[in-house]
Amino acid sequence: MKITGSTQVVGIIGDPVTHSRSPAMHNAAFAALGLDMAYVPLPVRPPDVASAVKGLAALGFRGANVTVPHKGAVLPHLSWLHEDARRAEAVNTIVVDKGLLLGYNTDIEGARRALVGVCGEEALRDQPALLLGAGGAARAVALALARLGMAITVVNRTLQSAEHLIELVQAAEPDTSCRCLPLDALNPSLVKVHHLLVNATTLGMAGAGKVPASLVDTVSAGQIVFEVVYGDTETDLLATARERGARTVDGLAMLVGQAAEAFQLWTGRMAPLDVMQAAAGCRQQQRTER
Ligand code: NAP
Repeated sequence: MKITGSTQVVGIIGDPVTHSRSPAMHNAAFAALGLDMAYVPLPVRPPDVASAVKGLAALGFRGANVTVPHKGAVLPHLSWLHEDARRAEAVNTIVVDKGLLLGYNTDIEGARRALVGVCGEEALRDQPALLLGAGGAARAVALALARLGMAITVVNRTLQSAEHLIELVQAAEPDTSCRCLPLDALNPSLVKVHHLLVNATTLGMAGAGKVPASLVDTVSAGQIVFEVVYGDTETDLLATARERGARTVDGLAMLVGQAAEAFQLWTGRMAPLDVMQAAAGCRQQQRTER
């Protein structure tokens, strides 16, 4: 990459950001398309969110991604919000346009693309989905599932968060059938009756515990398992689901999907998916089409 006097800069605001795969994905994509752009990590502590966001415009940035824990905190500091960002109460992509700060949520489309890339839309429409979790990732996935016409059951450790998620989905997609259940309702029988199982909790991340084996071991061929968590190795949930004959959707596919949408917002160009997938470290079976 060659930095010139006119290089346009984008970055990622989060705390921490050292683990992020986004700089690798976007810089590889800029290079592949010969764009004079660069993507940099921007570690920002929570008290500095407001000044960091305003600084993007002051420093002439083209935009930024926003990651944990700032996806909600940036909202009040933006000039305009896309309806997906308003619906999810979270922004993961900022575009700076003529000094204005525009907030988008491309995680929803990233989740939709990841699922459709593996299963196609027809396999999902009107089918029941069991969503574990009600945090930021779960909100994006739930809105994607609603958009795909799925009936959603949310199970979360904190029932109140699941109830709030249901309210967001019903406000965004009033025709969606959705309900939430407390964690103690989560058992193998519940898993069995759902076409799609999504893990959108932090379980499966290194050092964060695992989705209980009793649930994973009931997954069967004909079901689809979507693991939002990603890492250097496949989670036990995904590996077991594949062994048991289920179709699997990896969190890296969602990561690449949201990045491709953000890339298009900043550059006006279609993202080179194969370049981004390789830079993100997607294994062959994790690669999906647009
Ligand atoms: P978050 O907002 O902090 O939400 C965490 C969720 O996990 C909550 O529902 C929480 O339940 C639940 N949880 C945490 N510990 C638990 C436990 N011991 N037992 C049961 N549930 C537990 O985090 P997030 O931003 O949604 O991120 C979740 C995961 O998705 C992370 O691994 C993140 O890296 C990944 N992610 C992936 C993508 C992608 O593109 N693939 C995008 C975003 C996030 P409570 O509500 O009860 O606390």
